Amino acid sequence: MSSSFVPDRWIPGERLTGRLPATLDGPADGEVAAPLIGVLGLQSDVLEHLRALRRVGARAVQVKTAAQLAEVDGLILPGGESTTIGKLLVRFGLLEPLQARIADALPVFGTCAGLILLSDELEQDEPQPLVGGLHVRTRRNAFGRQLDSFDAAIEVAGIDGGPMDVAFIRAPRIERVLSDEVEVLASVDGHPVVVRQGPIWAAAFHPEVTGDDRLHAAFVAAVLRRA
Ligand code: GLN
Repeated sequence: MSSSFVPDRWIPGERLTGRLPATLDGPADGEVAAPLIGVLGLQSDVLEHLRALRRVGARAVQVKTAAQLAEVDGLILPGGESTTIGKLLVRFGLLEPLQARIADALPVFGTCAGLILLSDELEQDEPQPLVGGLHVRTRRNAFGRQLDSFDAAIEVAGIDGGPMDVAFIRAPRIERVLSDEVEVLASVDGHPVVVRQGPIWAAAFHPEVTGDDRLHAAFVAAVLRRA
């Protein structure tokens, strides 16, 4: 055996480096291949997203390099600390390739810090590296001390089956929508918390920690429809 990994023990998301084996998880005759969704894996909440994506039938890999970014059909930008993730995007040479893929209509889904990174503008004086692309103006840590972190059940337009259980953790808030290309799918206290602008999706909360996978499923379905 020349192969350096054992296919049936290989777990895509846990493999941090190297190329994806083309044959693994290939579709059977007449089946559509499950889309390959990356989770930007520079900092923070990666594993829970990988698990949620797999639960809804996608293949999921951690993305840490431009070569890995080039292979995915869609990408989640997870929560974490947006200043740190932004600096690491620059240091790992990923910022420009990511901006280029988004300009080329790569479906992306930013959650919490991911929403901050995708925003065109931030309501703060200190600059920080942003990916941009989503035409909104966002305020970081916007829910104040009392409400620093909280769970909520929210109705999301287009998501059937009743309110979604989600976790807001030092969450940002969209203060202003800058273009009518941005659809608001859910709001809290009059502020959008789920938006969609074509292939760019964003949520102010963490949808990956409560076990309610419906937004992941909707995103994966949208990626599949584009394929
Ligand atoms: N407060 C964080 C930031 O500004 C985001 C928090 C999160 O992703 N849970 O980047």
